Amino acid sequence: MSADFEMVVGLETHVQLATRTKLFCACPTDGFGAPANSRICPLCTGQPGVLPVLNRAAVELAFQAALALNCRIAAASVFARKNYFYPDLPKAYQISQYEKPFSSDGWLDIRVQGTQKRVRIGRIHLEEDAGKLLHAVGSRELDCSLVDFNRGGVPLIEIVSEADLRSPEEAVAYLRGLREVIQYLGVSRCDMEKGEMRCDANVSVRPVGAAEFGTRTEIKNLNSVRAVKDALEYEFRRQTGLLAGGGRVSQETLLWDAQAGATRPMRSKEGAEDYRYFPDPDLPPLVADAKWLDELKARLPELPAARRERFAAEYGLGAEDAELLASSRGLADYFDDAARGRAPGVAKTAANLVATELLARLNAEALEPEAARLPPAELGALAALVVDGTLSSKGAKAVFAALWEEGGTAAEAVARLGLAQVSDEAAVGAWVREALAANPKAAADLKAGRARAAGALVGAVMKLSQGKADPVVVNRLIQESMKP
Ligand code: ADP
Ligand code: ZN
Ligand code: MG
Repeated sequence: MSADFEMVVGLETHVQLATRTKLFCACPTDGFGAPANSRICPLCTGQPGVLPVLNRAAVELAFQAALALNCRIAAASVFARKNYFYPDLPKAYQISQYEKPFSSDGWLDIRVQGTQKRVRIGRIHLEEDAGKLLHAVGSRELDCSLVDFNRGGVPLIEIVSEADLRSPEEAVAYLRGLREVIQYLGVSRCDMEKGEMRCDANVSVRPVGAAEFGTRTEIKNLNSVRAVKDALEYEFRRQTGLLAGGGRVSQETLLWDAQAGATRPMRSKEGAEDYRYFPDPDLPPLVADAKWLDELKARLPELPAARRERFAAEYGLGAEDAELLASSRGLADYFDDAARGRAPGVAKTAANLVATELLARLNAEALEPEAARLPPAELGALAALVVDGTLSSKGAKAVFAALWEEGGTAAEAVARLGLAQVSDEAAVGAWVREALAANPKAAADLKAGRARAAGALVGAVMKLSQGKADPVVVNRLIQESMKP
């Protein structure tokens, strides 16, 4: 039944900006996990008589994100009061942007199953975060809720996509892509577990081929990529089920209950949406200075998409390797430093070492690439030794481990471990003759044209040489020895 329907999704993504202080006051933003209400002041708790002062660093990060997402920056934007009464909002309004956001009309390219697609971004605006309510704290049975204002006033951008997404997979790719770009910029860490990136999903369904969108629901409280995927799948089933049964979807706000694996309606009190927006009289319009914008543009780093393309073009990496290595800025920088200026072919081997050995070590020790115990230049040197035949790929693993544990240079480690591959014909030839003499049956089989017998002989040479014989030379000499 659901095969006759198409999913339509637009995401509203909140990202916490990595500033030191809050959006309109000097309180620190490191309140996550800190004692409740230890990062507050009269301003961010809404005391009478205070005046907000806009944090320039937050604006700078917000502009960088918008530029990287191909948005237009408005010459002037306006802060507005979004009025609603809820205990996490001490002023009873949130300072946000409404009619005149600071940026609009951008896009992000995503790839799903090998095809690229452009997802339009309608707008990005700046706003302050609210506090956090704590219901039924710990194991204590409380008949009240507590509020922590540490998060109140922390700077956020809200990135609103157009309803261009057509599947949970596209939504996930979009979120991951967004996170990649924003992390590259250093605009946010986007740690979803800490609420640094949060997402609301607007979902509707329509018959395949229909021109109009169906009625949408909005799912709140999606705090992991997994939750977005699961919630969209659930909501698609629910909505198509309603329509197929002759029912209708009602436009409403839903909460994702990850434990139950289901969406459920929010209590109407929370969803009451008459925000009575109006421009905040305490804040002047935010004017984007053209020279400042030019400076910010010039400072944008190479972004993930450009990096992937360059990794393919400059180093000849395949799509999968390029994707993996460009996925974080730290890893991409590490690989660039390892591969830069090396002979052709070295980059690919370096990419393999990064993707296997390095990532395994980083994961096992929970380290960022910047903290790798093997400097990138040495990984590049190691890759070069594999490519010029000094080391086998098996030997490279051992040298990698030695460099990680003990430091030093790749060349030293090869010598110290006695791992240098032997390509010298005389030395390899001696091993080959010994192997042929010790395995007369395999030698006879090979001579009689049974090519499979070569494997046993190569194995015997590797054993005799303790793995040091260059397999290319071994194979060639064995084949040559068969010629009359
Ligand atoms: P509102 O002002 O009510 O929040 P917006 O126009 O800002 O509505 O849209 C919010 C989000 O919902 C956007 O991401 C938009 O793409 C998405 N959206 C709008 N209509 C639909 C629809 N029919 N189906 C799915 N998503 C939609
Ligand atoms: Zn404050
Ligand atoms: Mg909206």
